[in-house]
Amino acid sequence: MTFDDFQFDYDLMDGLDAMGFNKPTPIQELAIPVILAHKDLIACAQTGTGKTAAYVLPIIDKIISSNHSHLNTLILAPTRELAVQIDQQVQGFSYYVPVSSIAIYGGGDGAIWDQQKKALKAGADIIIATPGRLISQLASGDIKLDKLEHFILDEADRMLDMGFYDDILKIISYLPKNRQTILFSATMPPKIRTLASKILDKPEEISIAISKPAEGILQQAYLTYDAQKIPLLSEIFKANSYQSVIIFAGTKERVKSLQFELKRIGLKAKSFHSDLEQKEREDLMNEFRSRKLQVLIGTDILSRGIDVDGIDLVVNFDVPPDPEDYVHRIGRTARAESKGTAITFINEKDQRRFHAIEALIEKEVPKLSLPIFLGGAPVYAPNTRRSEPKQRFKPRRK
Ligand code: AMP
Repeated sequence: MTFDDFQFDYDLMDGLDAMGFNKPTPIQELAIPVILAHKDLIACAQTGTGKTAAYVLPIIDKIISSNHSHLNTLILAPTRELAVQIDQQVQGFSYYVPVSSIAIYGGGDGAIWDQQKKALKAGADIIIATPGRLISQLASGDIKLDKLEHFILDEADRMLDMGFYDDILKIISYLPKNRQTILFSATMPPKIRTLASKILDKPEEISIAISKPAEGILQQAYLTYDAQKIPLLSEIFKANSYQSVIIFAGTKERVKSLQFELKRIGLKAKSFHSDLEQKEREDLMNEFRSRKLQVLIGTDILSRGIDVDGIDLVVNFDVPPDPEDYVHRIGRTARAESKGTAITFINEKDQRRFHAIEALIEKEVPKLSLPIFLGGAPVYAPNTRRSEPKQRFKPRRK
């Protein structure tokens, strides 16, 4: 599945491109169609799964095609940090579209309060708010929520843990009955079910199982420029005696060219890709399983379902776009309680993707230094925008 399948507005797709989003994550695949179909939704998903974009994208798309002259969407988040992060994603996606947002959170001085009040008076399509501050602003009578169309509760379990239950119900008393309500929560304890039964109307339910890599996998990463990847791989093989290795690359063209390059540095490697006949695939797997073949190179079709024990090294030559695929890829090693190593090469463009992986596995993967003779490496700064968003050439759709 790709983002094209959702038939989002062209300009929104440009925003997605600029943010480096190529392929929807599992929660996005499941949640976006439900939200586009105006149904209420209860979704169980953790940070790192792409949950924010799962609700923000369809909402922005709906706002673009509506006549948006009033406050359209309220997103409630437990903390100021999360509210700011959500607002940043909304602004990133709506870079090319006329959709506006404001974050309303507590703390700060009187100036921030006044600034938020002014912004609220000026109006916005989307408000992202923490409950306490929103209630204060509601009490001052400056926000009209009576025409609201979408209400989203993000990290609902954390909000309840922080004691916001009554505040949430109070805020809901200001909302119109006829609205779409979406609840995201990392866990589904009974108190969330009770809240959901009060505020959602015949919701669809989605749950994304959390995948975590096995404990026996030693995860490492190198920050590299593309030109350093092959010499680095050569060094890794020289320094260790790996018997059975899988190297993952992003596309089958890349897989094929890697096979050629690895031969040049003296590695016996073959590639596994979708152009092979079934019989060729089976022969290749048998060769690999019986240790006659040391290195197998493949795309993500290799990451799910191949069943070979004793793989001692998995190399991610490119960072997979979908964080879940990282877990599947490195899960090819350290099977059945054994030990294994997973090494990922991160170029400058893939840093954001790798950051999403670290968020999903809730772990920072150690970044090793390159051998000195390879020269300097890129600095890890995944939250930095690397280039200005590209120019928009497409005409705006009417
Ligand atoms: P979240 O679970 O919403 O906190 O997202 C975690 C990280 O994954 C954020 O840095 C997002 O920008 C990133 N992300 C979410 N969806 C995608 C996607 N489809 N492609 C690439 N990155 C994504």
